[in-house]
Amino acid sequence: MEFRGFPYTPYSIQIDFMKALYHSLNQGGVSILESPTGTGKTLSIICSALQWVYDRRQQDKSKVQSPHHSTDDAHIGSDDEPDWLRNFVPNKDNLTQEKKINKKFGFGGCDRRRNRKESCKDLFSRDLEEEDCNKRGENKSSRKKNDGVELSDDEFLLDEYESEEEGALGGGKSKRKAGGVSISSSSDEEGEKDGSDGEEEEEEKAFKIYFCSRTHSQLSQFIKELRKTLFSNEINVVCLGSRKNFCINEEVLKLGSSVRVNERCLELQKNKKKNEVSKIKNFSAEGRIRRTKASSGCPMLRKHKLQKEFRTETSQHGALDIEDLVRIGRSIGTCPYYGSRSMVPAADLVVLPYQSLLSKSSRESLGLNLKNSIIVIDEAHNLADSLISMYDAKITSSQLESVHSHIEKYFTRFRNILGPGNRRYIQTLMVLTRAFLQTLDNKKDLSNVNNCQAEEIAADTKAVCDTSIAINDFLFSLNIDNINLVKLLQYIKESNLVHKVSGYGEKVASLQEGLALDHNGGCGEEGSTLSSFRALVDMLTSLTNNDGDGRMIISKMRSTCSGLLGGFLKYVMLTGEKIFSEIVDEAHAVILAGGTLQPIEETRERLFPWLPPNQLHFFSCSHIVPPESILPIAVSRGPSGQSFDFSYNSRSSLVMVEELGLLLCNLVAFVPEGIVVFFSSFEYEGQVYDAWKKSGILERIMRKKRIFREPRSNSDVELILKEYKETIDGLSRGTKDGVRHNGAVLLAVVGGKISEGINFSDGMGRCIVMVGLPYPSPSDVELMERVKYIESLGEPNCGKRPEISVGEHYYNGDAQTAFSILRSCKRRGKEYYENLCMKAVNQSIGRAIRHINDYAAILLVDMRYASDSSKRSFSHPTNKLPLWIKDRLVSATNNYGEVHRLLHHFFKYNKKRECQ
Ligand code: SF4
Repeated sequence: MEFRGFPYTPYSIQIDFMKALYHSLNQGGVSILESPTGTGKTLSIICSALQWVYDRRQQDKSKVQSPHHSTDDAHIGSDDEPDWLRNFVPNKDNLTQEKKINKKFGFGGCDRRRNRKESCKDLFSRDLEEEDCNKRGENKSSRKKNDGVELSDDEFLLDEYESEEEGALGGGKSKRKAGGVSISSSSDEEGEKDGSDGEEEEEEKAFKIYFCSRTHSQLSQFIKELRKTLFSNEINVVCLGSRKNFCINEEVLKLGSSVRVNERCLELQKNKKKNEVSKIKNFSAEGRIRRTKASSGCPMLRKHKLQKEFRTETSQHGALDIEDLVRIGRSIGTCPYYGSRSMVPAADLVVLPYQSLLSKSSRESLGLNLKNSIIVIDEAHNLADSLISMYDAKITSSQLESVHSHIEKYFTRFRNILGPGNRRYIQTLMVLTRAFLQTLDNKKDLSNVNNCQAEEIAADTKAVCDTSIAINDFLFSLNIDNINLVKLLQYIKESNLVHKVSGYGEKVASLQEGLALDHNGGCGEEGSTLSSFRALVDMLTSLTNNDGDGRMIISKMRSTCSGLLGGFLKYVMLTGEKIFSEIVDEAHAVILAGGTLQPIEETRERLFPWLPPNQLHFFSCSHIVPPESILPIAVSRGPSGQSFDFSYNSRSSLVMVEELGLLLCNLVAFVPEGIVVFFSSFEYEGQVYDAWKKSGILERIMRKKRIFREPRSNSDVELILKEYKETIDGLSRGTKDGVRHNGAVLLAVVGGKISEGINFSDGMGRCIVMVGLPYPSPSDVELMERVKYIESLGEPNCGKRPEISVGEHYYNGDAQTAFSILRSCKRRGKEYYENLCMKAVNQSIGRAIRHINDYAAILLVDMRYASDSSKRSFSHPTNKLPLWIKDRLVSATNNYGEVHRLLHHFFKYNKKRECQ
C-alpha cells in the first residue's frame, strides 16, 4: 500500500499511521488513532483518508462497469492507478501537468468544477415561500380585528391557537400550522433556512469526509496541510464556520458576540421575508410592484448572482480556509457564510468545527448528510465531555426576570383579546418562570447583607450555594410536574410567541423611555431579550430529557459586599452514548484522532458502550524523535532536599514554594532559551509569584531570564507570547531592564489558553516544568455529578440512582461531601477524576516536541509522580502518560543533584548535536 499523495518521503511511523487509518476505513465502525503531536498526524490523515475515498470510488466505478471486477485491496497501487498518482512528485511543474491528466479520474478537479453545470438554485428564489408568506399575510389581514387593539399593536397579536382538548395543557394537537420564524434552541438552527431557502439539492458525494477539530486555527492548519498535497486541487473542499467568523456585514459584526451576530443576521432574514410579503401585497392591491425598502434583509445577500459568483470563484482556488473565503466574499460583496454552506452537497471534504457536526440541531440546520460518510474528529481528547457539554442548558436569574416581565406585560396588554389557547399557554409560561425565579431566590443569604466576610468566602468558593437535583425531583419540588413541556415547547415554536412578546416589549420600552433601541433590542448582560427566551427554551427542552440523562444545578442568588450575585439554573447532560450513536449509525466510519487519547476504555464506556471491545479499533504510534531528544524526570525533591508535595492541603507551604523557586533559579542558569512552568490554577500561580517576589527569588530568576505570565484574558495571550518569543530569539535582549537575558520563563496555567492550543517547539520550550498534579476542584458540583454518573456506568440501574453512599440526592458542593463521593467510588468515577488530571498534564507537556530535530526536558515536580517503575500500580499517575514519555521517564532519583546532572548532560548533548 502506497500513499503517493504524501508530499514528502514519509517516516515509518507516518506510513504505519496511514496504513492503520486506511485499514480502519476498510473495516468501517469506530477507530481511535493516537499519534503524538508533531508527528505529521494531519498530513497522514489527509493522505490516507483521501486515498481511501479515491480507491473506493474507483472500485465502485469498476464494479458498475464490470460486475465481476474484484474489489479487494490488491488493486491498491496496481497498474489501474492513473499516471498522476503513480508518478507523482510534488513540484510545481508536474502539479500543473498532473492536473490536466487527472481531470478524468477520481475527484472533481477545479477545471472540471469550473465546467460543472451550476446546478445550485440561488438562495433567493423564494417562490414557494413567498406564496406561503402571502397566504399567511392574507390570513392575517382577513382576521377580524378586535376592538381593544390599536392598529399599531396589531402586529404583536398572536394568531389563534387552539388545542383539540380543552383543559389539560396542550392535551391535543394544534390546529394552527407552523408559521414564521421561531426560536427553538440555542443552536444556529433558527431561521437557518432563511438564508438558504431555494437551494436545490445537489447529489451528495459518496464517502464524503467530514473533518472536524476544536478551533478555527486548527481548521486553518488543516487547510494549510491539505494544500501541501496533490489532493488540494483535485477535490471539492469547503470550510464551514460560525456567522461570527464569516460575517462581512460591518453593522452586524460590530455587535461583537456570536449570539448577537447570529440573532441580528436571522432578524435581517426575517425582515426580508416581511418586506417580501408586503411587496406581494402591494402588487395585488395596486397592480404594480413597489420597490422593497433598502433596509430589508442583509445587503450581502441581496443579489443572488453574487452568490453564484462566489461559488465559481472559490472553486478556482483549491482548498481555502475561512479567512480566504471571507476575503473572496468581501471582494465580491456577498455573504461567505451562506456561500460556503451552499457548497456542502457537492463537497468531497467538509472541514468544520466540532459543534457543527456533533450537535444534532446544527447538523440539521446545515443540512449535513452523514449517510455513508467518513467522520474524522481530530483533537479528540476529552471528546465525551465536549460532546455532552453541547447539550447543557443554562438560564440566569436576570434572563428569567427579563422573560417573565416581558410575558407579564404582554399578557396584561392582550389578555382580553387573546384566544383561550394562547391565554392558557402564556399563563403556564408565567407560572414556570415564576417558579424558576423562586427557586433561585435565596432569602436567607440576602437577608445577611452585612456579613461581608462570610459572603466573600461564599462567593470565592462559588459552589457552596450550588445544589444538584434530578429532573423529576426538580419538577416535583417546584410543583410543575403536571405541565406537559413537550406541548408547551411545540406551542412556543408554532405560535411565534417569542418574537411577538419580545417585539412588543421593545416597542413599549422605546416609547416609554423615548430611547432608540439598538439593533439588538436592548441588550443586558446576558444579551438580548431574544437570548433570554432562547435560554428558557433550551432549559425547557432539557427538562424533557429522561430523568437519568442529566442533572439540574441550582445556583442561588447571593449577596456580596460588592453587590448581588445573580443565580442560575443549569442542566448538565451526563450521557453521551445516545448522542453519539446517531452519528455512528449513519456514518460509514468514525475516526477519533489525537495526540493523547488514552484511556480509551473510558471513552468507549461513555460514548459507545454498545460496541463490543473487539469492534473498537485502536492504534497508537510512537514519537518521531529519537529517545535522546526527550528527558522526562519525576522530581520529588528540590535543591536543598525539601520534598515536593503540591496536594491541596500542603501546597501553600512557604518552604515548599521557596524550594520550587530555588529549583527554577537553578534551571535558568543552564537550560537554554525558554522554560515553561505550568501551575494548576491562576490563583496558585499568583500565590507563588507573590511569594517569590517577596523573598527575592523572582529577582534572582530575572537576572538570567525574563519572566512572562499567562494573562487571564485570552485576547492578551498573543501579545505575551510574541514578546516571550522575541526575548528567546534575542530580539529584545537587554532592552527591558538593561539585563542581558539568556532566554525567558513563561508562567502558565493548566487548562488555560497556553496549555491547550499553543506549541512550544524548539527554543520556545526547552524545558517544561509541571508543578504538582492539577486535579480539578472537587467543589465543582457539575464535575461531581459526572463522577457519580460515570461510577454508575455498567451498573444495572445505570444513570438512575448512582450506588454511592452520599446519602441524600441534594449535593451542595462542599469539599468534604465531594471527597466522600470520591472515596465511595470503587473504580470508574475515581478513575475518571484522575484521568481528567492526567489528560490535562499530557496536553500541557505534549506540546514541547514538534518535529524530528526538536528536543526538550520535562520535569514532573511532585513526589506523587515518583515511583519504582517495577512496582508501579496500574492507577499510578505516570501510567497515564503517553507511551513515548512513559517509556523514557526517569521515575526515581536519589536527590536533586542527580536531576541536575541528567539535565546538564541532556542539554550539552543536544546542543552539540544541534551544532553538527
Ligand atoms: S447574511 Fe452573511 S453578511 Fe449578512 S448578516 Fe448574515 S452572516 Fe453577516
